[in-house]
Amino acid sequence: MASMNEPTIGFTQTRTPQRRPEDSTLSFGKVLTDHMFMMNYEEGRGWHDPRVVPYAPLTLDPATSVLHYGQAVFDGLKAFRGGDGTIRLFRAQRHAERLNRSCAALCIPTMDANLIRRSFEAIVSADHAWVPSSPGTSLYIRPTVIATEVQLGVHPAHSYTYFVICSPVGSYYKEGVKPVRILATDKYVRAVQGGLGEAKTAANYAASLAAQQDAERQGYTQVLWLDGIERRFVDEVGTMNIMLRIGDEVITPPLAGTILDGVTRNSALTLMRDWGLKVSERKIAIEEVMQAGRDGTLAEMWGTGTAAVVSPVGELGYKGETIRIGGGQTGPVTQRLYDAIVALQYGRAPDPHGWMSTVPVPVAA
Ligand SMILES: *Cc1c(COP(=O)(O)O)cnc(C)c1O
Repeated sequence: MASMNEPTIGFTQTRTPQRRPEDSTLSFGKVLTDHMFMMNYEEGRGWHDPRVVPYAPLTLDPATSVLHYGQAVFDGLKAFRGGDGTIRLFRAQRHAERLNRSCAALCIPTMDANLIRRSFEAIVSADHAWVPSSPGTSLYIRPTVIATEVQLGVHPAHSYTYFVICSPVGSYYKEGVKPVRILATDKYVRAVQGGLGEAKTAANYAASLAAQQDAERQGYTQVLWLDGIERRFVDEVGTMNIMLRIGDEVITPPLAGTILDGVTRNSALTLMRDWGLKVSERKIAIEEVMQAGRDGTLAEMWGTGTAAVVSPVGELGYKGETIRIGGGQTGPVTQRLYDAIVALQYGRAPDPHGWMSTVPVPVAA
């Protein structure tokens, strides 16, 4: 039974279930499921009315504050169907807690983290048939909070909507792992200390588009972001955290105010420390990376994030020079991390850190 602290989540079933696409046709984020989770906030009333409802467009007054001032945060996690049919979420509680930190950074009232985790479970349970089962596929879960007050003044809103939508996604590496080419930019910056770099917010993505487009025009896949002050220290790659190995030291930038506390980053660090690897969270200058590339000690480099788990970097460009990393192949630590995390996600490996949680599936009536 739900206690006082555990509000009941309402449920309205769709009357118009859609046909689900074949696993082989899935890409990323194009198909949405039959239901969505919603909850509302009003000042004086707090967060209220958590419910699963049929997926439907939102109706927003053109003066809704999120449309003008971008008071919006989101997160992203996945549900996986194991070989035995069991559906599992990867580190749901940590994603829930991060969503709350993003809320706090944008003056959005936080929610009960347990209720956020239950919202993930409720929507996946309602749309459990949408969790694909082919190797590498998953159900991507997108929790989002937007300011819904209708007013044009610039101040934190007095009303908000939290919603969670889901999209079945195909294997990121359908055509095999392809190391990417990345371009370190000293022209654009993503975030500065005291800004929003630690929050998962729409504004950071808007701020990244011009740099990304510029990199693509120069033949690169992603941007390697440098710090906003000296434009020297490595921050993140695209919308992923960055890791690299020089000799036997794995290095990743510290959580010092400008980069996102990635769940995959944290998982990779934990696993590598379990394995006894030498792991440093420290500042690393782009010149140190380029020098290691020139002298052959830069053994591998990879991004980490929920969508891909790991994404190996095969080439790095900076100030007109390009270095090749690990012969353009996926390195051994990158591969080991990928294999270990994927095995956990599909329930094929023991889970000593308690990262996986199973989603109860309703028994057919
Ligand atoms: C989401 C995101 C990441 C990756 O975080 P995960 O929790 O591992 O998915 C890294 N950097 C940025 C800027 C992000 O938005």
